[in-house]
Amino acid sequence: MKFILLCLFMTTNLFAYTLNNNFGSSFKNHKVTVFVDENTNCAQAGMTVYELKSLIGPAIKFWNNVPTSNLVLKNGGFSTATNNINHGRLCAPTDDSCINSAPGNVIAPVEDIIIACNDLGTNYGSSSVLAVTVPNNFSGRKIAGAVIIINETAQTIFDDLSRSDKIGVLAHEIGHAIGLGHTEDKAALMYFRTVDQRSKLGKDDMRGVSYLYPMQIDAGGLLGGCGTITNADGSPPSNPPFWQMGAALILMIALFELLKLLNRPKTCSAA
Ligand SMILES: [Zn+2]
Repeated sequence: MKFILLCLFMTTNLFAYTLNNNFGSSFKNHKVTVFVDENTNCAQAGMTVYELKSLIGPAIKFWNNVPTSNLVLKNGGFSTATNNINHGRLCAPTDDSCINSAPGNVIAPVEDIIIACNDLGTNYGSSSVLAVTVPNNFSGRKIAGAVIIINETAQTIFDDLSRSDKIGVLAHEIGHAIGLGHTEDKAALMYFRTVDQRSKLGKDDMRGVSYLYPMQIDAGGLLGGCGTITNADGSPPSNPPFWQMGAALILMIALFELLKLLNRPKTCSAA
């Protein structure tokens, strides 16, 4: 019982991260480009679009240095304009009530990750929400595209943030875009409350991104063609059953005795 309790304790503490609340999916490709919408306007959020674009590089760095993950985020600069991205409703493709609440004014599905400023108040639960991220394009159960909108309403507090905190907010939203939800681990970037002066991922973020985008290690390649033996399906070989090992031993002893018998010097018997 002590062992079981210890395991439970370790499990709950090791995996605090959650997956994206809506879908629990990852991007279909582990290389994802992050763009700023070319026609966005961020005046009320206190930025030019060029300043917003300059935040992408430092924000994607958070996620690009995890040794156990193969995720590669690239800075794409400006994208082409997306329909309704500045003023439209941001809805997940399966969220019918959201889609029906804004006929003709839903932000169009995108490829990769697009960042923009948006001034539609209903996209934000309150004026203290800095940004919202929704994967709004799916290919099967995989994410094909996600939109990050920065609160550009009249009451926005985004423009009060320092540059490093704006980068931290974008890095957090990119975490949602690639498929992660919130965590209760205060040391993590994906902690549900904004934390000032965040400059790198926490261990919990690294576990989450490594779960969604695991590094594929080719041991044969790394070891210079070491020639490991695998089964046809690529799984490692298991030990032979005990009875097979016993039968092989008995066979070897029998063979040894037979050879001894054959090599015994012949004796003549005198009548
Ligand atoms: Zn969040």
